Amino acid sequence: MTHHAQPQPPPAQPADLVITGCTVLVHEEAGERHSFTPDAGERLSFTPDAGIVVRGGAIASVTTAEAAAALPAAERIDARGQVALPGLINCHTHAPMVALRGLAEDLPTEEWFNDVVWPVESNLTARDVELGARLACAEMIRAGVTCFADHYFAMDTVADVVAECGMRALLGQAYFSSQGREGREKSLDFALRRRGGANGRITTALAPHAPYTVTDADLAATAELARAHALPVHLHAAENRDQTEHSLARHGATPVEILDRTGVLDTDVLIAHGTGILDRDLPVLARAGGRTAVATAPRGYLKFAWPTTTPIRALRSIGVDVGLATDGAASNNSLDVWEAMALTSLVQKQTEGDPRWLTARQALHHATLQSARAVGLGETAGRIAPGRPADLVLVDLTGPHTQPVHDLAATLVHSARSSDVRTTVVDGRVLMRDRQLLTLDVPSVLRELERRLPTLVERGHGGRVQTYDT
Ligand SMILES: [Zn+2]
Repeated sequence: MTHHAQPQPPPAQPADLVITGCTVLVHEEAGERHSFTPDAGERLSFTPDAGIVVRGGAIASVTTAEAAAALPAAERIDARGQVALPGLINCHTHAPMVALRGLAEDLPTEEWFNDVVWPVESNLTARDVELGARLACAEMIRAGVTCFADHYFAMDTVADVVAECGMRALLGQAYFSSQGREGREKSLDFALRRRGGANGRITTALAPHAPYTVTDADLAATAELARAHALPVHLHAAENRDQTEHSLARHGATPVEILDRTGVLDTDVLIAHGTGILDRDLPVLARAGGRTAVATAPRGYLKFAWPTTTPIRALRSIGVDVGLATDGAASNNSLDVWEAMALTSLVQKQTEGDPRWLTARQALHHATLQSARAVGLGETAGRIAPGRPADLVLVDLTGPHTQPVHDLAATLVHSARSSDVRTTVVDGRVLMRDRQLLTLDVPSVLRELERRLPTLVERGHGGRVQTYDT
C-alpha cells in the first residue's frame, strides 16, 4: 500500500482576540470608493449573531458567533446584546484644550478668542498640553472614539500620548504667519519626524491655522511642501459666514477661493467647519485637484449662534466627504463624537427643512467611512472588514433607553449615547473593556492638572498667541 498518512495541519495559532455574539455594522463594497450619491449612507447593513476574529492587530475574519466561539483565542469578549461599529473618528479637534473646558462661556466667537482663549493659551506649557491630551484621549476612548485629527501646539507631546494610550491620530503642528518662517518649518519638521510613528497609528499633516491668520504666500509655500512630501493639509477655512464676508471685503475672494489660488486645493485637504462655504465655492471644490473633505462640529456652531451650518447636502452632491468632529472642548465643551453624529442629523433636518435629510443611516456613514476618508484613512479605517485594522467599539443596547429596537440605525444615532460604548479596540488592542480604561490613569492626570490650573487660567499678563481678526 502506498498510502501515507496525511500530515496533520498544524494546530491553529490562537487568535489574539475573538468577539462573539454581537451584531456587526457592515458597509457594502460595490462602488464605495467613488460613490458620490447623497444616499450612500443607505448602503449599510447589520449582521446579527456574528463573530469577529482579530490577529496581528487586524480583522482576520467576520464570521458567525458559532464559528468564532470554536476558535482558540488569547482574549475573548462575549458581546451578546451589543453592536460592533467601526470606531468613531474625531475629524477636527484641539485635544489639549480640554484643560480650558468651560472657561469662556456664552460669548461671541471674537470675544471668546481674543479675551479668554488666546491669552490663556499663551500660558500653556508642554506639561499642560500633555495632561490635556491624556484627559482628552481618556474622554474619547470612553466615548468610542478610536482616532482623532488634532491641530495644536507642542504636538510632539500629543504624539507621545497617542503612542502610549494606543489611539490612532492624524496630527498637525499648527502655525500662524505671525510666527514667521519658523512656524511653517516646525510644522513640516513635526510632520516628517512623527509620521508613521506608534506602529503606523500616527499619520501627520501640515497645519496652517486658517486663511485669515496665514498669508497667501505662506499658504502657497505650504501647498508646495505638502505636494513635495506627500502630506495632507489640515486647516480652518470658511469657519463661519462672517469670515467669508470679511474675506470677500478684504481680498475679493472667499476663503475657499483663496485655498484654490494658493494651490492648497491641489493637495489632500481637510477643512474645519466650512459653515461659511457659499454656492460660488462649490464648483471650485468640485474641481479641486486633491482629495477635499470637510469636518463638521455642529455643537459649537449652535453655541456661538452662527447663522449657518456646514452645507452637507451641497457638499455631498459634488462628492466631498464630510467627517464628524467636536472641535476643541473650550468651545464644544466635550469631545463626544457620538453627540456630533446625532446633532449633525438633527441640524441638517432643520436647516434643509426636510425630515428625510439626513437619515440615521447617512449619519452612520458620515461617522464611519466618510470620517475615515476625511482623515486620509479611507483604505484602512472606517469599516469592519477582513484585512483592515481592528479599530472598533462595542455598544450595549440592552438599556431601557435603547429598547425595543425597531430600526437599529435610528437606535444607534438617536437613542444610544456615547456612555453606551462598553469596549473600545484600536489596532486589535483593547483600550477600554467594560467601561474600564486600560491605558490611561485619569485620577493622576486630574490631580496634577488641578494644581496647575490657577497659573494656567491667569490672563493678566497681556500676552496672547494671536489676535482673531478675520
Ligand atoms: Zn478648530
